[in-house]
Amino acid sequence: MKKALIPLCVFFAACSSHVSKSDIKTDTPCSTVVQGKLFTSIFQQKAAEYRALCYQAYNIATFRIDTYRPLTNKPLAVVTDLDETTFDNSPYQIREGLKGKDFEPSTWAEWTALGVADTLAGSVSFFKFAASKGVEVFYVTNRDKRDYQGTLQNLKHYGFPYADSAHLIIRQNVSSKEVRRQALEMKYEIALLIGDNLSDFSSLFDSKTMAERRKNTDAESNLFGYRYIMLPNSTYGDWEPALYGKKGLTLAQKDSVIRAIGVGF
Ligand SMILES: [Mg+2]
Repeated sequence: MKKALIPLCVFFAACSSHVSKSDIKTDTPCSTVVQGKLFTSIFQQKAAEYRALCYQAYNIATFRIDTYRPLTNKPLAVVTDLDETTFDNSPYQIREGLKGKDFEPSTWAEWTALGVADTLAGSVSFFKFAASKGVEVFYVTNRDKRDYQGTLQNLKHYGFPYADSAHLIIRQNVSSKEVRRQALEMKYEIALLIGDNLSDFSSLFDSKTMAERRKNTDAESNLFGYRYIMLPNSTYGDWEPALYGKKGLTLAQKDSVIRAIGVGF
């Protein structure tokens, strides 16, 4: 099993312009999960189709803001997630994947502190457009205080509007964004929510099973492309713990679950 996986690891290393040859460990064991994440991260980084999907999402967002009819007298706001919504973290995922590793809090903190994540196609233009229309932008993210300075630096580097402490709302105690959304709704009319994870939109998707997530997505189907603007992310998200049935599994345990359920077969 291990031998058969080696060429795949080398292939991924050879394809990435973000990893030096010295990083390539040809004897690094690749779990099924890590292999999958490498491939989807390569898609995110290299495929023009991924880029087109980002443009599609932000073109719809632009149309919605341009034609938006307020329902209240409150000032308008757009609430957006950051990771895989405005920021492209595929270099991090690929670098760790080539070491045979998935996300880990310590390596993630090192990455976010750099403040060098590229932007998703169409994102900066859209948020500048929204700001030009008098719509405030709030960055509601589950990055935490360790990530704060690097994140702010990253936003400012690319010229995102409202890149300040009043509009960058990091995770406090809970991962659910519902409390933060409700606090904003006290003062603002939220015209759009933008994200790559369903819980970026509604608590209806917080900590739900696969079946519940599908059912609730169907129930909210009219809101996608209308109030909810969805970016693609097949590398990670709340769908993962829903797939595994719980959080905190090791890579080996996750591989076992995938083999056991034989997804889609
Ligand atoms: Mg995200």
